[in-house]
Amino acid sequence: VKKIAVLTSGGDSQGMNAALRAVVRSALYHGIEIFGIQRGYQGLLNNDIFSMDLRSVGDIIQRGGTVLQSARCKEFYTEEGQRKGAEILRNYGIEGLVVIGGDGSYQGANKLSKLGINTMGLPGTIDNDISFTDYTIGFDTAVGVVVDAINKLRDTMSSHERASVVEVMGRHCGDIALHAGLASGAETILVPEVPYDLGEVAQRMTHNFAMGKRHSIIVVAEGAGKGDDIASELARHSSQIDARVTVLGHIQRGGTPTPFDRNLASRLGDFAVRSLIRGESDKACGIIKGELVLTDIDKVVNTKNKFDNEMYELALRLSQ
Ligand code: ATP
Repeated sequence: VKKIAVLTSGGDSQGMNAALRAVVRSALYHGIEIFGIQRGYQGLLNNDIFSMDLRSVGDIIQRGGTVLQSARCKEFYTEEGQRKGAEILRNYGIEGLVVIGGDGSYQGANKLSKLGINTMGLPGTIDNDISFTDYTIGFDTAVGVVVDAINKLRDTMSSHERASVVEVMGRHCGDIALHAGLASGAETILVPEVPYDLGEVAQRMTHNFAMGKRHSIIVVAEGAGKGDDIASELARHSSQIDARVTVLGHIQRGGTPTPFDRNLASRLGDFAVRSLIRGESDKACGIIKGELVLTDIDKVVNTKNKFDNEMYELALRLSQ
């Protein structure tokens, strides 16, 4: 391998820059020429490709977002678009591509590998919704943002003895809600993976208030319901419950990445480059029980991410 390229695609996440830095510097360390592609697959189709050096990734390890920018690209869903992308890479003499993004971005990489480009996927998404990796790049930072917001809400909520519904990201995956919920002592965690009954939730809340609890936090993943609907439904079940709603939205994607995310991104970025050098292709890089692992992209996108039921039960037990 003499030339490789890197792009960031789909929703951005904190730590994408750290991953980019690792890919660029690891490639250069191994004597490989490295190209950056602006705005994901859209930039590839637009020939938005430039040579990168050690300095192009200076002073970005601590920054959220992605300096390569990200995009969604309709044309790349088509076979014609994918062929054009592979052709453009070949014109540059680029044999390998590192794609930093989520599930959809992985599928794009899978298509390119079938057209003769060696590809590696890096899990860049805050949702932690990718299988065959315990953590995705950005998840730890996003959880930190949510916990920080809940700490602040707790201050004001306990002063007024009120309940607080906090809506967090996660359309199909409740991991942000679960991890932030346990870390912030939430009383209720609503996730798409576990069915719930708001009548029971309301009963538990009124019981806990009667037992002297001064505040109650309900964390809901967007895929399990809208914060506003949950609050009005709880009020319908008990007139005692007057919950205030906070929708955290895109704040969860921002901020400086945590040391955990930076180190994860650095390890995975270097691993992706070394794997391409070894001749691997069409693989997703992940970390399982602390070990770096490669898994076929096909297998990753076709396997549902596991939900940690034990952790969920623990969160409920500890929040009495
Ligand atoms: P996230 O879900 O974290 O936002 P993602 O990578 O899943 O990230 P998508 O919008 O699903 O985000 O995918 C990003 C881009 O990848 C798409 O805009 C498209 O260009 C390309 N892509 C997605 N799915 C496919 C597919 N099946 N075949 C080819 N390209 C795809």
